[in-house]
Amino acid sequence: MAGWKSEALFKKSKEIMPGGVNSPVRAFQAVNQTPVFIDRAKGSKIYDVDGNEYIDYVCSWGPGILGHADRRVTSAVKETCDKGLTFGAPTEKEYILASLIQELVPSMEMLRLVNSGTEAVMSAIRAARGFTRRDKIIKFRGCYHGHSDGLLVKAGSGALTQSVPDSLGVPRGCTESTLVAEYNDISSVKSIFEEHGNEIAAVIVEPVAANMGVVPPVPGFLEGLREITKQYKSLLVFDEVITGFRLAKGGAQEYFGIVPDITVLGKIAGGGMPLAVYGGRRDVMEMVAPLGGVYQAGTLSGNPVAVTAGIETLKILKEDKGIYNKIEENTTKTRLAAEKAFGSSVCVNQTGSLMSLFFTEEKVTSYTTAVSSDTEKYKMYFAYMLKSGIYIAPSQFEAMFISAAHTNEDIERTCETIKQAAEVLKSYTCM
Ligand SMILES: *Cc1c(COP(=O)(O)O)cnc(C)c1O
Repeated sequence: MAGWKSEALFKKSKEIMPGGVNSPVRAFQAVNQTPVFIDRAKGSKIYDVDGNEYIDYVCSWGPGILGHADRRVTSAVKETCDKGLTFGAPTEKEYILASLIQELVPSMEMLRLVNSGTEAVMSAIRAARGFTRRDKIIKFRGCYHGHSDGLLVKAGSGALTQSVPDSLGVPRGCTESTLVAEYNDISSVKSIFEEHGNEIAAVIVEPVAANMGVVPPVPGFLEGLREITKQYKSLLVFDEVITGFRLAKGGAQEYFGIVPDITVLGKIAGGGMPLAVYGGRRDVMEMVAPLGGVYQAGTLSGNPVAVTAGIETLKILKEDKGIYNKIEENTTKTRLAAEKAFGSSVCVNQTGSLMSLFFTEEKVTSYTTAVSSDTEKYKMYFAYMLKSGIYIAPSQFEAMFISAAHTNEDIERTCETIKQAAEVLKSYTCM
């Protein structure tokens, strides 16, 4: 529970920033609490302004795969800062980061650095449209691709191909080229292609959906997307902003062995600084200005500070030293503990080091099954965990991120706390 300093800061912040925050989920609205204001973080721990310590499983929503303030990263960043924060001119560091990314994700034959996942996705879609000279795109219900106009759509129930914006302020015209299919349901994609096949520039997908809670692809789903996009000469875009450098060095495309035409990276790619990437087939990326007619630019794109954080993070991941095995093992331990504690009253999904505990008896394979979760139970679970010093996402529909900095002791304490939380929930609800 938030202490008095967090309470006071929240009150003041709400006067001047909508909801007191700079990104909505931080406001703890879904769990009816005051957010804890963070003072600092180190390794697996995060500390609030009231002096409470938490084991952190939000990890800044994904970037923190090495844990917080890894000295190898922060000392390089400090050094770079002293040499100038931004020049608006090309640097060697950009080339170094671009080649590192290219080496780890070989399908990105050419790429561009930008500042946020939202911007990267928006630019990737523009490149796909420019390349194919087609306007329509397909996205999946429950997949999040940033907050740009054309992608803020999950579509009204039933009306599969009629897209209504999710947000006020998005003109209808901006979403009418966005067609919405069902995640993990290849037939919903096929039927859209049968109707609009030659107008579809791209299919964009989170290869493991992680913004409706974690929902892994069912066998054949990603393969089906690859096949159908090829058949209709449409492009397959993997939004790997979460999965990139997390499921494997080469992201979900390496993990599942499927090569997309365009890839979007973010979060881990910037090692905790604002940086994202889009790239892919050379012939597509050659459409981007100044080479081609697809315009995209950015004052701070590729700035040396963010680029340095990216380089140092990716260098450590490239060496690996067992990081991927360790975070996957620790995630498996946590999943097994949750399954044992809650039994069949929950569904725990895991892919690699991504995990979600859904409060539903259904097997969560889709948006519909994800939203069958009991968010009241999640609220109680969240409150118990936070009070016990474990900081998980303040929403049922976000992933739990496990980092290389989480120790065996952290994981054991977390598993034990999950067990206690289950006992408390069982005694207060009819689970
Ligand atoms: C976070 C996220 C984005 C948006 O990235 P921002 O940097 O927040 O703009 C896009 N796609 C996916 C899959 C994400 O998880």
